[in-house]
Amino acid sequence: MSNGGKAMVIIMKTIAVLTSGGDAPGMNAAVRAVVRTACVNDIKVLGVVRGYNGLINGDFVELDLRSVSDIIHRGGTKLYSARSAEFATEEGMRKAIRTCKEYGIEGVVVIGGDGSFRGARDLSERGIPCVGIPGTIDNDIACCDYTIGYDTCLNTIMDCVDRVRDTTESHDRCTVVEVMGRRAGYLALNAGIAVGATSILIPEIDFDIQKDVIERMQRTQRTDKKHFLVVVAEGVGVDVTELAKEIQAQTGVESRACILGHIQRGGSPTVQDRVMATRMGHYAVKELLMKNIGNRVVAAKKGDVVDYDIFEALNMEKHIDEELYQVALDVSI
Ligand code: ATP
Repeated sequence: MSNGGKAMVIIMKTIAVLTSGGDAPGMNAAVRAVVRTACVNDIKVLGVVRGYNGLINGDFVELDLRSVSDIIHRGGTKLYSARSAEFATEEGMRKAIRTCKEYGIEGVVVIGGDGSFRGARDLSERGIPCVGIPGTIDNDIACCDYTIGYDTCLNTIMDCVDRVRDTTESHDRCTVVEVMGRRAGYLALNAGIAVGATSILIPEIDFDIQKDVIERMQRTQRTDKKHFLVVVAEGVGVDVTELAKEIQAQTGVESRACILGHIQRGGSPTVQDRVMATRMGHYAVKELLMKNIGNRVVAAKKGDVVDYDIFEALNMEKHIDEELYQVALDVSI
C-alpha cells in the first residue's frame, strides 16, 4: 500500500517526563503541557518521581489528562526533584536504561538545568531519545535567552528587597542582599537594576570592593543619599555579613546583611513562566517526540520556541550583557 511517497512516522507509544536539579516555578506548567499534548495524541505518559533516581528505580506514576489539573499555578514540582549521584555513574546509567526498556519508554522529557541536560545527553547517546526543557531559576543555559522559573524568581527577589528597602530607608541603613546564582549573575544584575541597588556584584564581572562598593556609596553620600542597597550574587564568594561590617566601618552607615536563600525558589509562577512552560512542553511533544526527534533541547530565542541538538547546546557559551551592567552603574548614583 502506498502512502503517497511520504515517510511513515511511527509515533512513540510511551514517553516519560521528569524534573531534575533545583526546582523552579513553572516546572508544573511544563509537565502539564507535556502530559496533555501526549495524551490527546494517544501517547501514554509516565511521570518519573524524583528525577533520575526515579528513572533508575522505576518510580513512575501514570499521568492522564486530569492528573495534571490544578498544578499550572503551583511552584515547586509535583513530580519532586532530586540530584542523583548514582545516575552520573556508569552503573546508574545502565540501570536507568534497563528500567526504560522494561517499561517500554521510548522518549524522555527532562525538565531541568544544564546538569540535567548532561544526563539527558548521556541517555540519548545510549539509545533513549531525550528532549530537554530549560527549567532553572538561574537563566544560565547557554542556548536559551530565558529559562522557566527565572521570571518568577526575579519578581520574588524584587518583592523581598522592596520590603527590606522600607526598613533600610526608615533607619538610614545599608542592606547587603545576597541572591542566588552560583555561576551566573543574571538574577543579581536584573534584580539589582529593578530595586535600584547602588552596587551589584556578579561572577562574570571583576570587581574591587573599595572602588565598586565603598567609593560608590561615598560618592552618593555626598549627594545626600542616606540609605543603600547592595546586591551580591552568591557565586562571587563574598561573605555578605563581613561586607556589611566593612561598609559600616568605612562609610559610617549602619549596615546589615540579608541572605534571601530558598525563599527565592518558591511561589506561584508568573504569567511569563506559565506561558513559556506551556509552549515549551507542547513543543517538546508535538514538534519533537511525536516526529520521533530526540536528542534536542527546547529553547526560547527572541520570544520564539526553537530547538537545538543537545550536544551543540551543551557546548554553547552565554555571556552577561555588559551594556546592561553599565546601565546599572550609570543610573544607580
Ligand atoms: P540547577 O542548576 O538549576 O539546580 P541542574 O540540572 O543543572 O539544575 P544539577 O544538580 O547540576 O542541576 O544536575 C541534576 C542531575 O543531573 C544530577 O544530580 C545528575 O543526576 C545529573 N547529571 C549532572 N551532570 C551529569 C553528567 N555530567 N552526566 C550525567 N548526569 C549528570
